[in-house]
Amino acid sequence: MKLNIFKNTKIFSYLLFLVLFSSSFSGCFSKEEILPEPFGVPGGLVLACLNSTHFTELVIEIDYEADQKPRPETLDLLIERINSVCDKQSVSYELSLTDFEHEGVWTSDDIRLKGRETRETNAMNENQLRFHFMFPSGTHSDSGVLGVAVDASTVMIFVDTIKEAENFIQRPSWEDIEAAVTVHEFGHLVGLVNLVYTSNVDHEDPDHPGHSSNEDSVMYWAIESSDISNIIFGTLPNDFDDDDRGDLINLNNQQLQAHDQLWYPEDYSY
Ligand SMILES: [Zn+2]
Repeated sequence: MKLNIFKNTKIFSYLLFLVLFSSSFSGCFSKEEILPEPFGVPGGLVLACLNSTHFTELVIEIDYEADQKPRPETLDLLIERINSVCDKQSVSYELSLTDFEHEGVWTSDDIRLKGRETRETNAMNENQLRFHFMFPSGTHSDSGVLGVAVDASTVMIFVDTIKEAENFIQRPSWEDIEAAVTVHEFGHLVGLVNLVYTSNVDHEDPDHPGHSSNEDSVMYWAIESSDISNIIFGTLPNDFDDDDRGDLINLNNQQLQAHDQLWYPEDYSY
């Protein structure tokens, strides 16, 4: 009897050891595989965009549904604006006609999930940083929304709603609205305004958090609202203003602290 207990204890200890050893061992190398890709918040990849030590290339994956293809002028302007703020050897886009297989309006959760389902690769793909812009048919669940940034790398733009937002004198035209909204959503991906930092300049609109109080900045709140042509007549801003650019310069040279980042440069001092 005594011997049996001893024997059983020994077996039990051995089994326990095996269980503990194998679970901790498997934890060592499967951690990376089990953890889901971190998608972060808009602005969560601003340092990855501004800094070129690791990500030398920026690719915009553009998935559009039939009749929703963004205009080449919109995409050229987007590339130009990205090049003016992010330090990359190359900035390019990849266009894909995509069936999103989605019925009805889009909630922000729908957009996040569909973005994950349809994107070609992770946002951080070796030396490539990849932002994902979707142009589907249909509208946002908040019908006043022309575009939205839902995480650190994902944007959706509603071309049908943009076309409806044009006023009867077509000033601004839907083409100009499309370009401005696209640059505006990219601005959110680089954290404008105050999304992942606090500016040393007071230029955030207190009534519209995350937006510029300057109506001449592309980060003005009305740019992504279907009321836009009732608010701004004529020429729309489609560029960042000096305060927006100043924030990005200060984030890059570490004069401003960036929080919630999915990637930090090796020499980051905060
Ligand atoms: Zn906005």
